[in-house]
Amino acid sequence: MTQQTATFINIGERTNVTGSARFRRLITEDNYDEALEVARQQVENGAQIIDVNMDEGMLDSEAAMTRFLNLVAAEPDIARVPIMVDSSKWTVIEAGLKCVQGRSIVNSISLKEGEEQFVEQATLVRRYGAAVVVMAFDEQGQADTEDRKVEICKRSYEILTKKVGFAPEDIIFDPNIFAVATGIEEHNNYAIDFIEATRRIRKEMPLTHVSGGVSNISFSFRGNEGVREAMHTVFLYHAIKAGMDMGIVNAGQLGIYQEINPELRDAVEDVILNRRNDATDRLLELAEKYKVGAGQAKEQDLAWREEPVEKRLSHALIKGITDYVDEDTEEARQKADKPLEVIEGPLMDGMNIVGDLFGSGKMFLPQVVKSARVMKRAVAILTPYMEEEKRRSGVADKPKGKVVIATVKGDVHDIGKNIVSVVLQCNNYDVVDLGVMVPSQKILDAAKEEKADMIGLSGLITPSLDEMCTVAADMQRQGFTMPLLIGGATTSKVHTAVKIAPNYNGCVVHVDDASKAVGVVSNLLSETARDDYAARIKADYDEMREKHARSNRQAKRQPVEKARANKFKIDWDNYVPPQPALKEQKVFTDYDIETLADYIDWTPFFRTWDLVGKYPDILHDEKVGETARSLYEDAQKMLKRIIDEKLFKPVGTVTFWPANTINDDDIELYTDDSREKRLDVLHCLRQQMIRNRNRANYSLSDFVAPKETGLHDWVGGFAVTTGQAVHDLAKDYEKKEDDYNAIMVQALGDRLAEAFAEHMHERVRKEFWGYAKDETLANDDLIREEYQGIRPAPGYPACPDHTEKATLFKLLDCENKIGLKLTESFAMWPAAAVSGWYFSHPDSAFFGLGKIERDQVEDYAERKGMTLEEAERWLSPNLNYNPAEVSREDAA
Ligand code: SAH
Repeated sequence: MTQQTATFINIGERTNVTGSARFRRLITEDNYDEALEVARQQVENGAQIIDVNMDEGMLDSEAAMTRFLNLVAAEPDIARVPIMVDSSKWTVIEAGLKCVQGRSIVNSISLKEGEEQFVEQATLVRRYGAAVVVMAFDEQGQADTEDRKVEICKRSYEILTKKVGFAPEDIIFDPNIFAVATGIEEHNNYAIDFIEATRRIRKEMPLTHVSGGVSNISFSFRGNEGVREAMHTVFLYHAIKAGMDMGIVNAGQLGIYQEINPELRDAVEDVILNRRNDATDRLLELAEKYKVGAGQAKEQDLAWREEPVEKRLSHALIKGITDYVDEDTEEARQKADKPLEVIEGPLMDGMNIVGDLFGSGKMFLPQVVKSARVMKRAVAILTPYMEEEKRRSGVADKPKGKVVIATVKGDVHDIGKNIVSVVLQCNNYDVVDLGVMVPSQKILDAAKEEKADMIGLSGLITPSLDEMCTVAADMQRQGFTMPLLIGGATTSKVHTAVKIAPNYNGCVVHVDDASKAVGVVSNLLSETARDDYAARIKADYDEMREKHARSNRQAKRQPVEKARANKFKIDWDNYVPPQPALKEQKVFTDYDIETLADYIDWTPFFRTWDLVGKYPDILHDEKVGETARSLYEDAQKMLKRIIDEKLFKPVGTVTFWPANTINDDDIELYTDDSREKRLDVLHCLRQQMIRNRNRANYSLSDFVAPKETGLHDWVGGFAVTTGQAVHDLAKDYEKKEDDYNAIMVQALGDRLAEAFAEHMHERVRKEFWGYAKDETLANDDLIREEYQGIRPAPGYPACPDHTEKATLFKLLDCENKIGLKLTESFAMWPAAAVSGWYFSHPDSAFFGLGKIERDQVEDYAERKGMTLEEAERWLSPNLNYNPAEVSREDAA
């Protein structure tokens, strides 16, 4: 640490589920022991405060905060530093405050929601004896100029010290560090605005502190750690001089001002201090040069072209470089005796290295798919020569094995299946991909005809689980013996063991991700390992089935009538439902793609490619950062093409219906606001777990005013899709042997559809329903769903019955209006689509239905006009009983 930073307090940020992928994983996996180690490391590495944040959609954040802080309290070497309790939810902050014994700091409060709430929260903070971070944020929004920052901080100061009785030294201002050098002129002064505001704040309110999240400043250089580090160092050098005395920083990433290369330091300083108009351009020019590792990469680039052709081919394959593959393959072919030698020699050599690196976790999926693209291109060049050769000699080459792969009937899941086929193909397995929505018999016929060694089934939505059981049973009936592989998002080892495997005597294996596929297939095909492997799988699955049967009997549910009595109660007497501004259904054709691009949530994009971690942090992840950056760059290029050439045609529709809840669990929709004539009914399901304390048994119907209140409440419906063009473009790439871009197009199609849903929901809140006209949320806030109201989607945890989509699609007339259809399993086609309902009540929130009992299923079936068996089939993942066993018990 240099002199100037000696009094600067750094705040450790790794114990933050939104900031650290590792910490999030540990918490969601319930591995609190190791999560505690993260906190300990922070302290050991010099953090003087640790920030703890549990804001993650899938977590019970209050419970996680409580549990973690209680554990911290028991560790003297961690508890010696103050804890910063960080959440955007006040209830989580309070839960945290209750556990901290020593000094704590609340991160954060602000005037965003007005003075009253500010005073209320500050009073509580003070009662807990905690210090507080105050964001420069008021009713008008986040402060960006020097004057606004100072003005809001002063106003907060006055209120805190005069009204609430806060000691000035317990106040930490965060005057907002925003990114500079973004290419947008208005951003150029952001660093100066922060620095100068800091100077004034510390001068006018000398006992207070100033803090901020430093890495924001360099956001536009993400991917270039060299430049980012220099920016952080230069920024802090000036900000600390101006009085900034705390900050969330990665201490390991801070350099020393005097030691930065002078050329880079000057360019960075021009940007930070906004000293010249062309500062951003000049830094951008320099940036490449200072990219960590840039120098070495360039030199290697030239070197590998000097190698013999065989080495060049292997190199291109390992690095996924397609630029020279045509000429190199041709050169190698001419040199070799037979074209096959080129494949078996340099190409397979390269592919084996790729396989090893991938298998051992040193290479990641996007790189493998890129390598596969090189392989396919080379093979495409060699194929005509090999066929000629085959014709002359009459000898065919034999691949290692053949897999028939398909997405089952009713399902449209394509991306994961394509990834698995690419990975298998580049390991020299022959893959026959039958596509999506493939009926059982067609799969079995193809497997016979192709003399396949095994079948692979893929599926995304829960009804497909059932269809997979059907395929397995068909295989049994028709005398198949080959192994059956199961994969896709809702599949699991338990489900495969419990539900699918009992239908078929052959080996049934669940493959949980693409990287595992090669191992499973090679084991199943190896003459020596096969029998042992299959026996082990069988034993493992048998055990799993037994365990499941035992554990299944534990979780008791309560009768549905009792659950209804414990519904979530809203104070309807003091509530006036907002009336939608939009009076009739609205249809959008050809929505502007660029607008939607701003709403993309990138985190799931990386997950599609098996890269796990939160965006943008994933771009700097130690392990996958480099791959993630290159993938992200490729995605940006493709996205730009899609926008510039208008390659997708997003279409969507939205409308609202007068609605009231009847009989607790159904939502009745009316033809018009006179509410005399029923239009349709949405059937909701209610949680049936036994609740202690004060928690309710939720149903979505709880968020709509019951009919007897006489209130005129409403429910909305929407469907959006990026359309058939996504599939068509992906197919074009597939034809060009370019699976990498085919998968990229599909992944972006999905992302843009989700972004469309997010954007449309925002317009609904601000404009079409109009109950939140003044909402100003950044994309991150939208992703965290910090708005009022929800858009539950049938098939998701609060409403897992996919068949309710039929009502939605009928009411919206989706097929005619926007060309969106449902398959027999209620998957949407085109696949890049999102649909759901809108609820506006401020208390409406997501929950998971969990397991339900037969009494509710019987009642639900009756309400929906289905047989019990039908209802049980659609709800099968949510049943707390085994329908087969129950009817046997009844019969007995
Ligand atoms: N930003 C993410 C959105 C993921 S899912 C992305 O781009 O992929 C978010 C949507 O899933 C919600 O808006 C809602 O439509 C649906 N959803 C999530 N949880 C749900 C639940 N428990 N019940 C019903 N629908 C849910």
